[in-house]
Amino acid sequence: MEHPENDTAYKGLTVNKGIEQPSMINPYLKNRPRVRRRELTANDYVEGILKGDVMILSRAVTLVESLRPEHQALAQEVLEKCLPYSGNSIRIGISGVPGAGKSTSIDVFGLHVLEKGGKLAVLAIDPSSERSKGSILGDKTRMEKLSVHPNSFIRPSPSAGSLGGVARKTRETIILCEAAGYDKIFVETVGVGQSETAVHSMVDFFLLIQLAGTGDELQGIKRGIMEMADGIVINKADGNNIEKAKLAASHFRNALHLFPAPESGWTPQVLTYSGFYGLGIEEIWKMIYDYIAFVKKNGYFEYRRNEQAKYWMYETINEHLRDSFYHNEKIAELIPLKEKAVLTGGLTSFVAAKQLLDAYFEDMK
Ligand code: GDP
Repeated sequence: MEHPENDTAYKGLTVNKGIEQPSMINPYLKNRPRVRRRELTANDYVEGILKGDVMILSRAVTLVESLRPEHQALAQEVLEKCLPYSGNSIRIGISGVPGAGKSTSIDVFGLHVLEKGGKLAVLAIDPSSERSKGSILGDKTRMEKLSVHPNSFIRPSPSAGSLGGVARKTRETIILCEAAGYDKIFVETVGVGQSETAVHSMVDFFLLIQLAGTGDELQGIKRGIMEMADGIVINKADGNNIEKAKLAASHFRNALHLFPAPESGWTPQVLTYSGFYGLGIEEIWKMIYDYIAFVKKNGYFEYRRNEQAKYWMYETINEHLRDSFYHNEKIAELIPLKEKAVLTGGLTSFVAAKQLLDAYFEDMK
């Protein structure tokens, strides 16, 4: 008897047969056809992007970031077709050390610009991705309000490859975003020089976020980065930090006077604000818009974009040549031998380099 309780000895008690429990795994899973994402053609991508389809835009960015040669070829085709529709945006680089308040500020700045209309894309160049293959920037969760806004597009830093490669992909992503109708582009970065240079080479305005410190904050910041800035903003000017922030601002203003006048003819401004409390945000936007109007009038806007286009042409050539060299089989075999010869004093660095280059060009014939 399945249930001993049903013995007649137990009067008035019956136990019903239980129901067989279904398996935890869906039994139909195997029979279901696997849904594969339809491969898109270059025209599908372009059509979707021009319509402002965010899913297609995301997939196109993934394509641009892909290292697979067939993806790269398709990505280049998509980019070429999008290029005529790009360029109509204000590109703003935003830099600051971790903790300076970039995410808090971008969240607030972003909402502020979106209130005025248009669409905003937030991209990132993360110098740490080169080493750790991780990302400390551009994470959606860092910009809570902006990430759920229907007119924003937030994309973390591409994670593979050299800083130059990551930066090139970000620049290409700008083209896709502009073709998709994003008329404001933020490119965020953190770093101590190189990544700022990369961002500077793709934006119209470079904003440096600083904090008020103990008065010696100018020592910690590289001169080159300050020289790149079109505007310096001191964050966390709130509570009992307001005076310190004002003091820091005047230090920065004085320091800027010591630099040669920028090529743009614009005098970089120094402002204080509070990202957290949303104070002074309008002034920052006004500064950026004033700058854009100023450089559009004196021709520097066009000039800088042309210079950047030239810069990226050469960067791309350099990157491809480097890749081609180091991925050449013969070179890959020879390099450890030549390196050893240099280390043991058998060859000078220059002779070793020359021999490797000769071997490469010989192989290319
Ligand atoms: P990020 O690393 O540059 O992105 O910096 P976060 O935006 O994550 O900010 C770092 C910390 O500073 C967080 O704890 C923020 O709450 C705080 N913070 C950011 N902006 C302000 C501000 O305007 N005032 C104050 N008091 N704190 C701020």
